[in-house]
Amino acid sequence: MSTLLSARGLARHYAVRTGLFGRRASLRAVDGVSFDVPPARTLALVGESGCGKTTTAKLVLGLIPPTAGTVTFEGEALPRPNTVAWREARQRMQMIYQDPLGALDRRLSVLRQVAEPLEIHQVGTKAERRERALALLDAVGLQPHLAGRYPHELSGGQRQRVVLARALILEPALIVADEPVSALDVSIQAQVLNLFEDLQARFGVAFLFISHDLKVVRQVAHDVAVMYLGRIVEQGAPEALFREPVHPYTRALVSAIPVVRRRAGRERIVLEGDPPNPIAVPSGCAFHPRCPVAVAACRSETPALKTLPDGRLVACHLAHGDAAMRKAA
Ligand code: SF4
Repeated sequence: MSTLLSARGLARHYAVRTGLFGRRASLRAVDGVSFDVPPARTLALVGESGCGKTTTAKLVLGLIPPTAGTVTFEGEALPRPNTVAWREARQRMQMIYQDPLGALDRRLSVLRQVAEPLEIHQVGTKAERRERALALLDAVGLQPHLAGRYPHELSGGQRQRVVLARALILEPALIVADEPVSALDVSIQAQVLNLFEDLQARFGVAFLFISHDLKVVRQVAHDVAVMYLGRIVEQGAPEALFREPVHPYTRALVSAIPVVRRRAGRERIVLEGDPPNPIAVPSGCAFHPRCPVAVAACRSETPALKTLPDGRLVACHLAHGDAAMRKAA
């Protein structure tokens, strides 16, 4: 399968000052993340708040520069930000956010919002832009009579549909969707997730789908990457990952989904404590202070992200058959 988007060793560190005396420290928001997104597929990035998902999205779009690593899009290195080449690439890479009201201009009608990117890029005549915008409103399931409404006159689900229509109008190859359904009611979430699938089948667009909620991505993702403190700790096909999660952190996330827990007859795993401060990442495996099966070596040796026989990637000493560690566990 060809690759549309490729990230290799992507990192973003921030210099910060901490404590009473303002000691210099490094905040590792993203710390060596690699993944591929094929055309017309969906990769979900999942993890708790602060794990680096949104920073990864901004790095992929070139909105912030990486401390290390590379992004390749449609076979080319991502151009430097604010250049003509970058703006051209950005037409093919759109982003949608959690809050559709914040993403829309309250002074513009729905039709104007959706047609505006064509206006900005001087694509087509006014009549052609209007026709294309109406076709996209239809594609996202909005009735023509809503075209003249303003964002505050729509429901949350309708606004997110407008945002999707606007993102699609320049025919992007990739949409980065940052928590696109988390502000919606649960009943509306399912409809919008169905829409993501429909639009992918119809327009061949790929999604980088970011969510703190593992159960949300189950419906839409072809590949799921679980992040913890700036790193991917497990990545694989959703069927395998939900059926038999390997990394102890993924196991805890999956066990928190009531339906999956019931079907698999599993107990819920409640993790102790909050995620550590990214300025003071624990030594060895960063998950060890919360890991229910940690062994002594986990405190000093950082597990590499390695492939299991079923093809999934896992960063855990126990997953890779270290006999001594299994015994100690
Ligand atoms: Fe737990 Fe050790 Fe595996 Fe980290 S490497 S997830 S601490 S068992």
